[in-house]
Amino acid sequence: MKSTHLPPWHPYQSFPAQPTPLTVASAQGHDIVLADGRRLLDGIASWWTSIFGYQHPYLVSAITQQASKLSHIMFAGLTSAPADKLAERLGEQLPATPVVFFSDSGSVAVEIALKMARQYWQAQGKGEKQRFIALKNGYHGDTWGAMSVTDPNSLHQSFRNASQNTYFAPPPQYGFDAKPDADCTDLPTDLQQLSAFLNEHRQQVAALILEPIWQGAGAMNFYRPDYLRHVSALCQAHQVLLIVDEIATGFGKTGQYFAHQHAQIAPDIVCLGKALTGGMMTLAATCASLEIAQTISQYPPYRFMHGPTYMGNPLACACANASLDLLVEIDWQARVTTWQTHLETTLKPLAQLAGVEDVRILGHIAVVEFSTSQLAAQVQPLALEQGIWIRPFHRWAYLTPAYTMSDAEKHHLTQVFCHAIIQACQQQGKKQGYPSAYL
Ligand code: PMP
Repeated sequence: MKSTHLPPWHPYQSFPAQPTPLTVASAQGHDIVLADGRRLLDGIASWWTSIFGYQHPYLVSAITQQASKLSHIMFAGLTSAPADKLAERLGEQLPATPVVFFSDSGSVAVEIALKMARQYWQAQGKGEKQRFIALKNGYHGDTWGAMSVTDPNSLHQSFRNASQNTYFAPPPQYGFDAKPDADCTDLPTDLQQLSAFLNEHRQQVAALILEPIWQGAGAMNFYRPDYLRHVSALCQAHQVLLIVDEIATGFGKTGQYFAHQHAQIAPDIVCLGKALTGGMMTLAATCASLEIAQTISQYPPYRFMHGPTYMGNPLACACANASLDLLVEIDWQARVTTWQTHLETTLKPLAQLAGVEDVRILGHIAVVEFSTSQLAAQVQPLALEQGIWIRPFHRWAYLTPAYTMSDAEKHHLTQVFCHAIIQACQQQGKKQGYPSAYL
């Protein structure tokens, strides 16, 4: 390979990536168009971002109009109408955390949340509150601080020391539909260790961070709202801030606009990203309570010490504003509810296959858990042959499709997905008693 023709390094890959990444020429609606002319129906919306499909005319027009006026302007000492408007709208949508701090990516939004929590306690003369609590199987990003609160057993085993100051509490044990322990005087078993840790160490803990309702990249698991309610109450009782990472779950994915609304809690800090711009460009936000913003501002150094160069980028903010309009326009809730019903009807029977351990569905998210990662990996080429783009990892093949797919696209996607899974299981010689309707 000549050095002048080196390809870029791709995510979570050796260099050069194997197999060679497919070159995408364009993407339209729900299709990815490859340079060789093939069209792939996208089952995962570019890592859970393109909830309206690609090149939605309303988003394209918002970006084009904004680009003709103001693409970027520094955010220190200057501001722009799209950034101000977006901050106002997000503040309205998240009344407990109305102060919005923009950044470029989800991981950075998490870094900022952690820094805010530390600075908040420092401002009050409680600088010893420096530690963080996170959940086992939790995932919050790949930068150093985000990794420090990500369970090192999932993606970051080589960087274990990043998380040495974090206490990892047991993950939620019960699924989304588990009944709340309303009559139970003791805490549920999966919260007892966390409670004991807080009793002993609360003076050293700045914040607890978690992914609400759906533990994504580290577990692909849904858990009950009651767990969130208990965590929120424990944090309040022990003077520990609660940071809710809505980067993967925000904007309707789990059936609520924000996943923490399933539990009706009021977090201290909320991180947003991914679908914030409808998948058009990168933008993230860390939303803080007024109390946090004011406390940080009233005590030395009288300011929050963070400032990304592209903070509040007007193009990205204009796009995010258009995306918030579109969510209402398309009736996201009805669409996600319909997706959930469709996914349940078509995919649940896969649980009967030998080789499939579990099928979990909430909102527009469907996860098929296999007994081995080899089996999960086999599903991708089989789906690709039939014109579907998915990207299984670890022991999971999943769908997080655009909300806007037509009925025909929906049926095609789930039919091919099921077929690829059945074929993969058959190839392993493990198929048992799968209903013939799905063959
Ligand atoms: N938090 C969660 C819950 C995520 O799912 C991700 C990305 N998968 C991140 C943070 C990091 O976001 P980004 O990749 O934009 O840095």
